[in-house]
Amino acid sequence: APALPSNFLRAIVESDLAAGTHVREGMPSVITRFPPEPNGYLHVGHAKSICLNFGLARDYQGRCNLRFDDTNPAKEEQEYVDTIIDSVKWLGFNYDYPQADGAVEHHLHYASDYFDQLYLMAEWLIQQGHAYVDSQSAEDMAANRGNFNTPGTNSPFRNRPREESLQLFRDMKAGKFADGEHILRAKTSEDAMASPNMNLRDPAIYRIRHAHHVRTGDAWCIYPMYDYTHPISDALENITHSICTLEFQDHRPFYDWLLHTLSQGGFFTLPVPRQYEFSRLNLTYVVTSKRKLRQLVEEKIVDGWDDPRMPTIVGLRRRGYTPEAIHLFCERIGVTKADGWIDMSTLEGCVREDLDPKAPRATAVLRPLKLIIDNYPEGQTEECTSPVHPHHPEMGQRSFPISRELWIEEEDFMEVPAKGYFRYYPPIGDAPGSRVRLRHGYVTECVGYDKDDNGKVIAVHVKYFEDSKSGTPGSDNYKVKGNIHWVSATAAVEAEVRLYDRLFTDAQPDAGGKDFISLLNPNAKEVVTAYLEPGMAAAQPDQRFQFERHGYFVADRVDSQPGKPVFNRIVTLKDSWTA
Ligand code: ATP
Ligand code: MG
Ligand code: MG
Repeated sequence: APALPSNFLRAIVESDLAAGTHVREGMPSVITRFPPEPNGYLHVGHAKSICLNFGLARDYQGRCNLRFDDTNPAKEEQEYVDTIIDSVKWLGFNYDYPQADGAVEHHLHYASDYFDQLYLMAEWLIQQGHAYVDSQSAEDMAANRGNFNTPGTNSPFRNRPREESLQLFRDMKAGKFADGEHILRAKTSEDAMASPNMNLRDPAIYRIRHAHHVRTGDAWCIYPMYDYTHPISDALENITHSICTLEFQDHRPFYDWLLHTLSQGGFFTLPVPRQYEFSRLNLTYVVTSKRKLRQLVEEKIVDGWDDPRMPTIVGLRRRGYTPEAIHLFCERIGVTKADGWIDMSTLEGCVREDLDPKAPRATAVLRPLKLIIDNYPEGQTEECTSPVHPHHPEMGQRSFPISRELWIEEEDFMEVPAKGYFRYYPPIGDAPGSRVRLRHGYVTECVGYDKDDNGKVIAVHVKYFEDSKSGTPGSDNYKVKGNIHWVSATAAVEAEVRLYDRLFTDAQPDAGGKDFISLLNPNAKEVVTAYLEPGMAAAQPDQRFQFERHGYFVADRVDSQPGKPVFNRIVTLKDSWTA
C-alpha cells in the first residue's frame, strides 16, 4: 500500500499506537467520531471532518462513530438526521462494523441516548461540590462573567448548600420552573470565575427548556449543554481521539477537567478520550455556515439545500461531484493547525482530475447556430464514429449521424475574423472562407452566411470535401487548423442544460462582516436549451460526461429522465474563473 501522507494527527495516532496508549480489551485502539448537530445539512467543511475521522479509523483499523449531538431540541429535526446519514454513506463511509464472530456492531449514536447517564453524573457533581444551581437572571449572569480583561464575579448562589442545589436540580427536572429560572453550572475550582479562560468561568451544564425533542419527546424539560455532553458522550463511546476544529481549543481544559473528575467517581475508566484540534476548512466563493446556508434556502435565493450551487454535500452531489473527488480534495488540502483559505479552484481541480480518466465523451452544442452543408444531399445521413474515451479504447466507440443541417456553437463563426481565429469565417475579397474540420466528420469550407432583419447571423453555409472524412485515407490530405464539434440538426436531442458557476463573486463573501447576500453571483445559474448527440437521450440520472470543449456535466438526479435529459455543468474544462 502507498505510504499515507503524513499530518500531525496521523503522527499522534501512530505514536499512541506505538505506546499502546489506548489499548483496551476487545476494542480498537483508534476510535474517532463525527458528531454533527442535526440542525441543517452538511457542507464541504463537514466533509473534511468526515474524511478525517472516518479516514483515520479506516487507515488504522479502528472505528469511527456517527454521533448526533442532539441536545438542542428547538433547532433539530428528523429531516436533518436523515440527510446527514445519507451524506456520510454517499461519501463512502459506514458505521456498521462486522466483528470476528460474525455479529455487526452499529455505531450510530445519539447524545440523547445518554440523557439518563448525563443526568446522574450531574447529580454526582452537585453532591461532590463540583456543580451548583445558579438562580441569577440571565442579565446578571452575563454581567458577572466579566470579560477577557476583567475577572468575573462569583454568583451569590455559588456557595448555596449542596443539598439545596440538588433539590433545585431535581425540581428543574420535574418541571417546576420556567425556562431560564435556574441553571446548573460547573465549579472547576474555587477561583474559577477569575480564570483567564472564559470557558472555565462556571460554565452552564444544564438549562431548562420546555421543548419537544425529536427522540425523547417530552420526557425532559432540562437539557445538557454542549460542553458537558460532548466529553461525556466521547467517554461513554470509548473514543480515543476526539478531533474538533480550532475554536474548541479553549474548551479543552474543561473537557479534561470534566472527564478526569468523573473518572474519580467511577463513571469512566482511564485513559479518557483526548481532544485534538485542527483548522476548519474555509473555502473561497462560498459560505460554510449552516445558518447562512439556511438563509439562502429560506429566502429562496437558491432552489433548496441541494441546489447545485450550494456547498452542501447534497448540493455537490447534485452538481455532479463524485465522492472520490471530495476524498481527493480532503487529502490534498491536508490537516493542519493553521487557519487559512482554500481556493475553490482546488476543489474544481479535484473533480476534473477524478472525471477526466473516467467520464465518457459526448457532444453538446450549448449556443446553437445553424450550419448548412450546401453540397450535402438533402435527406441523406451517414454515421460518424469516435471513441467514447480518447485514452480508453476498452470503453468502446460511439456513433452519431452527419446530415445536411447541423448545429454548431455561435462562437465558432465570426463575420470578421479576429487575429488567430481559425474557425468559420466567410470569403473576404478574393480570399476563400476558412476551412474547418467538423470533428469526426468532414473538412468544410465556409462559403457564406445568412442574417435576419436585425443583422443577427442565423446560418452559416459551407461546402464539404467528400474525400476528407476522418478515419479515411483521404483525410490526411487536408491540413486545417480549425476543428469544431457539431450535432446533426435532425438527430440531435434537445435538452435543458444548466450552466452553473460560483455562488459568489467575492472570494470571501462573509469575511469581516461583509453583507454576503449582496455578493451573490447573478450568473451562477444560466439555463440554456442545448442540442446533444443522439446517444444522450439514454443518459441515466447521475451519469457524468465530458461534453467536448465545454467541461463535465451530469444528468440531473432529480429532473433528468431517459428520453428527456436535463444536464448540470459540474465544472468547465479549464480554470477560467473571472469575477
Ligand atoms: P456550522 O458552524 O456550519 O453550524 P458546526 O460546527 O456547528 O457547523 P456541527 O454539526 O456541530 O456543525 O459539526 C460537526 C463536525 O463538523 C464538528 O466536529 C465540526 O468541528 C466539524 N466542522 C464543521 N464545520 C467545519 C469546517 N468548516 N471544517 C472542518 N470541520 C468542520
Ligand atoms: Mg457545532
Ligand atoms: Mg454551528
